[in-house]
Amino acid sequence: MSLRKQVAGLLLALSIVFVAMTFAIQVWVVMPAFEELELSAANRDVERCVNAIDRDLQFLSGIANDWAAWDDTHRYVLDHNESFRKTNLMDEAFGSTRVSLICILDNQRQIVWGEARDMDTLELLDADDVLTSLQSPDHPLTFHDSVDGASQGIQLTNVGPMLLASRPIITSKREGPINGTMLMGRLLNENEIAGLAERTQLKINVWPVDATDMPIDALEKLQTRTESGDKQFVVASQDELHAYTSLDDVFGKPALSIRVDLPREVTLQGRVANYVAMACSVVGGVLTLAVMWFVLKWRIVSPLQAMADHAVRVGSQDNLKARLSLSRKDEIGTLANEFDRMVAGLAESRAKVLDVAHRAGMAEIASEVLHNVGNAVNSANCSIELLEERLQTPKWSGLERATHLLVEQAPQAAVFFSQDARAPKLLNYLSVLSQTLKTDHEANKTEVARLRETIRHIRDAIAAQQTFAGKSNFRQEVVLDVIIKEVLRINGDLIRSSGIDVAVDLPSLPELHLNKSKMTQVLVNLVRNALQSMNEYPADQHRLKIAVSCIDEQGISIEVTDTGAGFGDDVRTKLFTHGFTTKAEGNGFGLHYCANAIREAGGSLTAQSPGLGMGATFKISLPQVLPASLSAS
Ligand code: ADP
Repeated sequence: MSLRKQVAGLLLALSIVFVAMTFAIQVWVVMPAFEELELSAANRDVERCVNAIDRDLQFLSGIANDWAAWDDTHRYVLDHNESFRKTNLMDEAFGSTRVSLICILDNQRQIVWGEARDMDTLELLDADDVLTSLQSPDHPLTFHDSVDGASQGIQLTNVGPMLLASRPIITSKREGPINGTMLMGRLLNENEIAGLAERTQLKINVWPVDATDMPIDALEKLQTRTESGDKQFVVASQDELHAYTSLDDVFGKPALSIRVDLPREVTLQGRVANYVAMACSVVGGVLTLAVMWFVLKWRIVSPLQAMADHAVRVGSQDNLKARLSLSRKDEIGTLANEFDRMVAGLAESRAKVLDVAHRAGMAEIASEVLHNVGNAVNSANCSIELLEERLQTPKWSGLERATHLLVEQAPQAAVFFSQDARAPKLLNYLSVLSQTLKTDHEANKTEVARLRETIRHIRDAIAAQQTFAGKSNFRQEVVLDVIIKEVLRINGDLIRSSGIDVAVDLPSLPELHLNKSKMTQVLVNLVRNALQSMNEYPADQHRLKIAVSCIDEQGISIEVTDTGAGFGDDVRTKLFTHGFTTKAEGNGFGLHYCANAIREAGGSLTAQSPGLGMGATFKISLPQVLPASLSAS
């Protein structure tokens, strides 16, 4: 799998994990915290409701106290005087004090006076059940053993649940003896419950335990309250929570079931916050993913991809010229630079190895040729020594003396040949000499033939070497400027001695792909010929020009122009023939070699001259020597 896909997969997986974790935290941590908060708020609200009922009971107790700690009441319990009843226990007393029940009991728990009335209409209510129960000896509100005693509670009556508060009847100075019990009651009717709801700012529902209209869930909660504690909560809907509690009556039995309906604002806000947080985390995740992907792709993945492509290109195309050239200071930059350096080193080593191999090859050929030439030269040397030896022992000294004797004896030749004893010897000597000279001549002829054969052998060996060398396809990266400088250096003596003006017109070129030593040799020959041609043909100021220019797609041309002797049409046709020369000490190999070398490189060598004494131009055309990328650009 590519690095790009791996990174993309990793980022995607990370994002999914991040979003899943955020979701899990929201569901298992944040939302439960909000619900907890909601329940504790609901708990407080139910407490407020219960406290409000409690405060009502306290208020009722306060009213009972006002009536109970009063000398008139204290006396009335004992004397039952009519004036107290008429003055104080009239109907309006219920409305002004907002009580539904007023009951005065003596110490024997007998009702001295007691009535129940509607607080608003002041109509008499049928509350005999309450009044009867108050006289019961085990009613908890009807006995006080201390002047500061106070007790209150709830009691279910025929006319509805009633809040009851009782106080001992004492003197206005809050002294005994306790003459009885003062009881005040207030019905917990719809108005009272509405008032309660208004004061607490809660939606309150109250049902007496015996109510027939009590909803089933309220009934259930009432039944399970001992198991679940005072308060129980039920999620009624997405927007509403029901909090249940119950209150006992004065006898400790369940009396009221209370339900507070609470809006689920906290959970609602929590849910909204949850959605926002989720949306933020998703958007944040996607944004982070996008930014990380972009940055990773820009800074790491793409550069690594480019490096991988580059490495493959270098490997598959064997292109050691290609460079990454990343201008980065980080690890990737270092890696790219090191890779470039490594490839450059490899290219250099390869060039060196090729050069060494080429030189070794050339040296091997050269040594073979030299060996052959050396053998031939030895043989030629022997022939020359032999000839020299023969020439060092001249035969003509005896012949000279014989000739001299003959010239001396010519006047008396007849006498000499008939009578002189030297005559037969002379004739014999001449005969032998003639035979010897004939033999020597034959031997010399043979030796000269052998010498010629040896020299031809040397020429053949050299020619074979030239042919072999010419077929070499070896090429390397060379800088033309360096070659031209080398050529001028080699011909330096000739240039200096002749005082010829040399001009080089060389455009800026990349490295060329050709055989350096052959190219050098060709240019050395052409430049030397041009210099010699100008030296042969005196003029005021000669000029040698080497001009390089680009031709077609990847080719170049090199023109060597002189102002020397030039040549006519007759010479032009023979210029490149092996052995053609017009020079006294020339051998006629130079241009032949040059033409072959250039042809082997896939190019051509041409020569032009306007005529004798008008200079000449030799033009080398070389295709496919510039890098392909240059021509493309
Ligand atoms: P060599 O230099 O031994 O004569 P070359 O093959 O180099 O052999 O040259 C062959 C002949 O071509 C030369 O002898 C000369 O006549 C002619 N030639 C070469 N270069 C020039 C030149 N620049 N101007 C005029 N003639 C030239």
